[in-house]
Amino acid sequence: MTLSERPRRLRQTPALRRLVRETRVSRDALVLPLFVREGVSIRENAPGLAGLYRYSPDRIPEAVETAMTAGINAFLLFGIPAHKDREGSEAWREDGIVQQALKTLRSRFPEVILITDVCLCEYTSHGHCGVLTEAGLVDNDQTLPLLAMTARSQAEAGADLVAPSDMMDGRVAAIRQVLDQKGLTQVGIMSYAVKYASSFYRPFRDTAGSRPAQGDRRNYQMDWHNRREASREAALDQAEGADILMVKPALAYLDVVAEVAATANRPVAAYSVSGEYAMLQAAAAAGLLDLEEAIAETAAGVFRAGADILVSYFAPEIATAIKRGDLG
Ligand SMILES: [Zn+2]
Repeated sequence: MTLSERPRRLRQTPALRRLVRETRVSRDALVLPLFVREGVSIRENAPGLAGLYRYSPDRIPEAVETAMTAGINAFLLFGIPAHKDREGSEAWREDGIVQQALKTLRSRFPEVILITDVCLCEYTSHGHCGVLTEAGLVDNDQTLPLLAMTARSQAEAGADLVAPSDMMDGRVAAIRQVLDQKGLTQVGIMSYAVKYASSFYRPFRDTAGSRPAQGDRRNYQMDWHNRREASREAALDQAEGADILMVKPALAYLDVVAEVAATANRPVAAYSVSGEYAMLQAAAAAGLLDLEEAIAETAAGVFRAGADILVSYFAPEIATAIKRGDLG
């Protein structure tokens, strides 16, 4: 039999297969989200996210240290405040929960990358990402200065990158302007440029206590039928001064990751969200798939689609898979 093409030739041994891999994954491209809550000496299970924890600021260094052992050097911080109000004022308090964690981590680990989520939903009593009008809708323009104040206080507390996740129009420009005015020109913006109104956020909302009391987020987060709109959102954030563009979620949006990577002129991050984490954990717990293999395969898919950076609750496991040679 004379075949002109034999693709199987390159699949014969593990070393050959590694030689011809088209997607290379590095631990340097991974970001681990962390949850910080008020209190002292606390490390508690994250509700809805088996295997993850919420830490008080004094114990958050443990989480960073453990992840660093696995090779993770970038962290995305989410705050869970003790008090909420209609405006979410704990978000920009000088000694707010994220600001406390930043100061502790900055002094203990000067070399790690600290990224902060900028949003109000964890801090507002109503659970929406901005201030509400009397009709109960999120007021875009009234929310912008509050987001900018939040970003500024996080930057002053030691953040390398601030990451607005609220999906208000114009927030990247508002944040950039305030940071520059305060001399924080070296603090970058990793914008959640393309964030869909996804059902995959639910475990996070239980952990962060940010479920909206009423209504949903569909009038500010994107409709998941749309791809062209992703290019528009990415282009707007880029023009407003975003340094890194993020797509969220990852798994059901790999075409969008590919689209943004192809059209944007900035590094592209993808956020593998809590529902993606929970889905793999649950399937593995039910004996339906091998967790380690599924984590590696899913991570490879995100990078193959074109992401430069992956934000994942499985970041340490992905780093371990790279070390094993299953990935990268
Ligand atoms: Zn939010």
